Order: sequence, then C-alpha cells, then structure tokens
Amino acid sequence: MGEFELIRNYFAAAPCAQPGEGVALGIGDDCALLSVAAGEQLAISTDTLVAGVHFPDVCDPFLLGQRALGVSASDLAAMGASPLAFTLALTLPQVSAEWLEAFARGLNTMAQGCGLRLVGGDTTRGPLSLTLTVFGTVPTGKALTRSGARPGDLLCVGGPLGDAAGALPLVLNQRTTEASTTQALLTRYWSPQPQFELGIALRGKASAALDISDGLLADCGHIATSSGVRLLVERDQVPMSDALLRFFGPDAALNAALSGGDDYRLAFTLPPSWLAELQAAGLPVFVLGRVVEGHGVALIDALGQDVTPSTRGYQHFQETR
Ligand code: ADP
Ligand code: MG
Repeated sequence: MGEFELIRNYFAAAPCAQPGEGVALGIGDDCALLSVAAGEQLAISTDTLVAGVHFPDVCDPFLLGQRALGVSASDLAAMGASPLAFTLALTLPQVSAEWLEAFARGLNTMAQGCGLRLVGGDTTRGPLSLTLTVFGTVPTGKALTRSGARPGDLLCVGGPLGDAAGALPLVLNQRTTEASTTQALLTRYWSPQPQFELGIALRGKASAALDISDGLLADCGHIATSSGVRLLVERDQVPMSDALLRFFGPDAALNAALSGGDDYRLAFTLPPSWLAELQAAGLPVFVLGRVVEGHGVALIDALGQDVTPSTRGYQHFQETR
C-alpha cells in the first residue's frame, strides 16, 4: 500500500473527513480551506505524541487514535473555543492495514463525538509519532486565557481529578483490580472528553482557564505566573472519584489528583458572582480554592496551613521530578 492509497483508504474516506460546516475544502489539495465567520477568531493548537513517551510502545490503536485527538481537542475547550477541524501528521514505522483501520476508527469516534473534521495532514515513515493540530472558533476577544485571574476569584475545576494518573498502573499492566474500577479509570485515560460545553459556558465569565495536562498544582502555577497572582488550593476540596479512592487509597489518590498528569479537565478562576448560575445550569464546576495577592501556588489544609508537596507534575527535559 502506497502513501496515497493509505491516505485515501483510512483518512480521506473516514466519516469525520467529509465536507461540512466551516470546511470549504478538505483533504486532497495542498491546503485545506476553513471558513471563519466575521466577528470570530481562529483558535489553533498543536500537540505531538511520541511512542514510549506519551503512550506505551505497544497499545491498542483504536484507543490511541481516540486519546490522541481527545488530548489535543482539550486545548480548544480550555480557550472557550468551539470545535472546527484538525490535521494529522502521522509517522509510522511500517504500514499495517489492521493497525491503520483501528487507529482511524478511534480517531473518527473522538472526532465525531467532538464535532471536529479531519481536513489534512502528512504521512511519513519513522518511529511512531502523531502530531495533531486542532482548529476552533471563538467570538473575537472572548477566548479564555491564563492571564486574567484576580484576587477574590474562586479557583475551580471541571470534575474529579487524578483518574488518568490512577489508570497508569493498569495501562502499563503493573497492577490489576476489579472490573468496574478498571473500566472507570481506563476510560478516563484512553478517552478524555474535551470539556467544550463548559469552556463555551465560561466565555465572558471565567477570568482565566486552562486544561490540566501536567497535574493540578503544576498547571495552576501557569495561571499564577501569567496572571501575577497566588493560587490557594484547599486540600480537602479536591474532587476525586470513588474509583480512584478505592484503587489508590486516600493519600496516593490525593497525590494523583494534585500532581498526576493527563486529567484534561478545565481549571479556571471565576468571580464568585457567576458560580450559582453556572452550577444551576448543571455544569461541572467544583470550587477547590481561591486567588489571592502574591505569586505561586500553595496547597492549604482546613486550618489554612501550607502543606504544599515538593513534587508537582511532569516536565520534559527536567532532570528531577
Ligand atoms: P503535499 O505533498 O502537497 O504536502 P501530501 O501528499 O502530503 O501533500 O498529502 C496529500 C493530501 O492528503 C493533502 O491534502 C494532505 O493534507 C492529506 N493528508 C496527508 N496525510 C494525511 C493524514 N495522515 N491524514 C489526513 N490527511 C492527510
Ligand atoms: Mg503540497
């Protein structure tokens, strides 16, 4: 199978690659053409996933396709953008029809679930890696950035944290546990759902936002730095799932929720006056702290004492964790 046959069979033919709203021209030309309405801005983000670094060397291609796009699309949700399109640059060690079919099916499942159209990409030979670029739209000036948090705002997250980090021993076949716990944790790892509805609802309300990829404390540090404020996280308010608590116990679960990566839930700061309205609308808004003057991030206990742990998340190129 040649490069063009591969592209045609597995990607151009996928349901998510068919023409639709906002895509004036898709796969097949030198460029895709996207239409952006007057009064809207294009939000763009790129992520690379490398085998052995971001996912196990040997893993289910369906799950990989699903996860790769979910992880990338989460950046759009974090900015309050509506989903539009994506491109896929795929580097493969060899061509396996079985692998490609399953991968494309996983990708398509996530794409259709999110409302993202595949509009182009690149296909090359080499060690397995994926680069996805996602495109979304947001009304001009309404994108959620990291820089607007103000003292007095609440610090919130979009759901229980730590499940994907909790799933790692299962993903790596290091531990087993009962089926319902396994299922709950693995789903959060392999099928992260970008929080588009929440991100869009936060437009014009949240003062800062991002999606948690490297761990709550590490990512809150980005908001603190960009906004020039201090974020206080209340240890006893960190939401965690029953599955994680069962599997890890309370201490390791908290550690996973604070410093484990791969949550892909939104973290955001919110003037308190918006809280009731968002929660009444049924949106997942969990308050776990607040913004004060100063800099950095601190974990505090019920008495307000600083109990910040020393390890905070994952960074490439960093010698110690
Ligand atoms: P060019 O040589 O002009 O860069 P290519 O031959 O790489 O074009 O690709 C041909 C068409 O197929 C382009 O529209 C490109 O965007 C698309 N394409 C290539 N690889 C992929 C892929 N993995 N998924 C989706 N579209 C792809
Ligand atoms: Mg070209």
